[in-house]
Amino acid sequence: MTEISTSEKLQAKRDERTRKLWEDPFYADFPHLYREINIPNSCMAYGCTIGDGWKPLIYDLCTQLVQLDAGVVFDQIKEKFGGLRVYYSFDKTSTGQKPTDSQVEQVKTLVEETIGKADATCETCGAAGTLRETKRGWLFNSCDSCAEKKGV
Ligand SMILES: [Zn+2]
Repeated sequence: MTEISTSEKLQAKRDERTRKLWEDPFYADFPHLYREINIPNSCMAYGCTIGDGWKPLIYDLCTQLVQLDAGVVFDQIKEKFGGLRVYYSFDKTSTGQKPTDSQVEQVKTLVEETIGKADATCETCGAAGTLRETKRGWLFNSCDSCAEKKGV
């Protein structure tokens, strides 16, 4: 009995978190790209684990990907070693076709461009930033002002 109610509570928490993610236009505007958010054990279940400074870059990427209609689905978007990581796979396009080689290539280019922009952008506030390292060896991308606030 106790076990069931614990798992029910967990499920309720998950549902609540997913609902909140979907209220955010950042996700809601691109339901196809972010549909893995609905899968509890997927890496997308927590949404994009990046700072607000990079979210406009991802939003632009999403806009371009939707226009390209290559059937992209995000598997994971996160920060690692101070850089942006974008993992995705391909599903069918809106017309039920497989993406063409040219579309696949264009997606790769768009994602690489976005990662390049993130490398020059403060993950916290979106100003011009550079890769920095804390005394403990933690890598992060930041502008001077945000680095100062963090005491690095
Ligand atoms: Zn900043």
